[in-house]
Amino acid sequence: MEMEHGIKKQGLTKNFKCLECEKEYVKSRDLQEHTIAEHTDITFRCEFCNQEFKRRSTLERHINKRHYQLTFKYDERLKEGKSLLKHINAENLPMDVLQEEDLKAVMLYMEYRDKMKNIY
Ligand SMILES: [Zn+2]
Ligand SMILES: [Zn+2]
Repeated sequence: MEMEHGIKKQGLTKNFKCLECEKEYVKSRDLQEHTIAEHTDITFRCEFCNQEFKRRSTLERHINKRHYQLTFKYDERLKEGKSLLKHINAENLPMDVLQEEDLKAVMLYMEYRDKMKNIY
């Protein structure tokens, strides 16, 4: 996944330099990801299918595409679940005040959140 190769990002200062190979990055997150992928043996494992990835972002994309078939609609549903859960927690309400469809959205979000938590 080295697609940025050869593309010059104009107007952005690359402040983050790899100490191992002098590659430069605009974002610290990108440098961190590069360092882990290129200079360590650390891999990120998919919780669903145990496939391993060098980069966390690749794993995230893999999970979204492969295991959640993440579409715009799905994304909306997750957001819905997230805000419903926040509301419920804030008001200290029991889960069963939710309509069936709303409850499904909340469950979906909670499942997604738990899976994602393991990556970080
Ligand atoms: Zn490097
Ligand atoms: Zn997987």
